[in-house]
Amino acid sequence: MKKEILHHIYNAFERWPNRPAVACRSGCSACCSGNVTITALEGVEILRWVQQNSLSHWLARILAENGPGETPRQTTNEFAAACLAGLAEDDPEEMAPSSCPFLENSQCRIYPVRPLACRLFVSSQTCEKGQPALVPEYYLATATVLCQLVEHLGQKEYWGNMLNVLPALLDSTEFGDIAAGVPSLRTIQARLATRKAHPLPGFLLTEAEEEKIRPLLATIFSIRVAGRRIEDILNGR
Ligand code: SF4
Repeated sequence: MKKEILHHIYNAFERWPNRPAVACRSGCSACCSGNVTITALEGVEILRWVQQNSLSHWLARILAENGPGETPRQTTNEFAAACLAGLAEDDPEEMAPSSCPFLENSQCRIYPVRPLACRLFVSSQTCEKGQPALVPEYYLATATVLCQLVEHLGQKEYWGNMLNVLPALLDSTEFGDIAAGVPSLRTIQARLATRKAHPLPGFLLTEAEEEKIRPLLATIFSIRVAGRRIEDILNGR
């Protein structure tokens, strides 16, 4: 059910009419850093797709040679909870830039199952080295809201840098073929470097942002999965 909800969120975002026009094109990979954060839910999607596409040895090598990755001190929902309680000390920390090891010849090797964070990263102008992506403020707010929803969906499970969450998930026998190629010390370090996903504490939106985002949230919340509205499922009803 969680996997189905995740895909409904991806699809609703793809069809969202308020998405800004973007300059992003195939082969443009300036934003592909090694600092992508994911939930375990997204990690399992990637691991299964890798197995189905006979890429287990390839992924094992990537995970053995790269990482542990940098994980923020707080998850998105932890940061939102601190802000809502007036306890946020500073902005989320800047991570050191590094290239994503899944990038090969400027193409993402796991593109069909790339996580939400990668789907959200766009720019309305072609990115140059050292130049930040350009997106409207309401888009940044929407990206944060969607990350919060997906974190809520994956709550109590691993959350963190993709290069930590993927090896952390290799303790399942389902992924034994990948685990066989990754040193056990690497998987232990990866597990220690992850955080747990937290439930949604509320959104950090201005009135204007809320107005832009409301139709997207209404679309997502009204979709029925196994006879129940996603909003009810997320609220545990
Ligand atoms: S997973 Fe793919 S889309 Fe995401 S940062 Fe890496 S190469 Fe880019």
